[in-house]
Amino acid sequence: MTQALDIQHTLTKKIKPDEDKLGFGIHFTDHMFILDYTADKGWHQPRIIPYQPIVLDPAAKVFHYGQTVFEGLKAYKTEDGRILLFRPEQNLQRLNRSNERLSIPYLDEELALDALKQLIVVDQDWIPSKAGTSLYIRPFIIATEALLGVAPSTRYQFMIIMSPVGPYYSEGVNPVKIFVESQYVRAVNGGVGEAKTAGNYAAGLKAQEGATDKGYSQVLWLDGVHRKYIEEVGSMNVFFKINGTVHTPALNGSILDGITRKSIIQLLKHWNIPVVERTISIEELYEHHAKGELEEAFGTGTAAVISPIGELNWQDQKISLNGGQTGELSTKLYQTLTGIQNGILPDPFNWMV
Ligand code: PMP
Repeated sequence: MTQALDIQHTLTKKIKPDEDKLGFGIHFTDHMFILDYTADKGWHQPRIIPYQPIVLDPAAKVFHYGQTVFEGLKAYKTEDGRILLFRPEQNLQRLNRSNERLSIPYLDEELALDALKQLIVVDQDWIPSKAGTSLYIRPFIIATEALLGVAPSTRYQFMIIMSPVGPYYSEGVNPVKIFVESQYVRAVNGGVGEAKTAGNYAAGLKAQEGATDKGYSQVLWLDGVHRKYIEEVGSMNVFFKINGTVHTPALNGSILDGITRKSIIQLLKHWNIPVVERTISIEELYEHHAKGELEEAFGTGTAAVISPIGELNWQDQKISLNGGQTGELSTKLYQTLTGIQNGILPDPFNWMV
């Protein structure tokens, strides 16, 4: 790091939560990282400080115009006490792609990775060690200029906060029921769908609420123009195994370029399992199901890693996938990826840092 990192340790360490009851994003570690941006100084004053509330002017642009981006990744503690990160450089590259779309200034990826590592070292005793647990890391940037004109902010803050999290599935990987969303859309090509920015998640809440009310876990998002091409599932990328080949929607500008997605594609190629990235319509998927060709479906993302789909409901036509059971491929992918992440399995792609 070219700028010296200032570390201010907390004087009052928090009591750590019970590793059996961590949940997701509930507890936060003792420290956080902050870096400021002003037009004249650029990004400056990197510091690790005790975790604390931040003070912002009510006119700060982030509150009004949503100029903000974030990332999500995990640190794992191995059985022999090493701390591993899964492809963190990919998250920082994606953060900058999101920055570019949201007119937020470029952030030095090396500086950010170094800050992230140092923060983890300071709070390393917060990394849980029970099977399936990890330390979830949330880097984010907010526009802090107090000015209501609609224009890119001239001031920002980059922060990193961290939360010990439990296994996504307390009773193993279970298939979920998915509602195919026909009324609302998450994103459109040309919009901000491929950026990891708050507005996409706010836009998804209404449909998510509706799906929950109907007894479904998540929605399957269709494209915003034709309303028929499959995009993502909840806040995960989506894969379908049809007749032995794995299909996933091609990145089209409205789909987030998931790091788990990318890694799954690499793994499948490594195993010589055919995988294609293409446009897939919901009608086509239902036709494959009718012909008995739709073997498995699953979502992929940092939080759950693999989330098998057991049932789909599209305009009241319900189909059950793989008898509502977790498929063989979903299981193998889950075990392999989590095995690599936890340092239990060899890492043939040098993903772990
Ligand atoms: N799509 C959306 C909308 C997401 O928020 C996420 C989570 N970051 C993903 C897909 C999966 O991405 P990743 O595998 O990088 O976690």
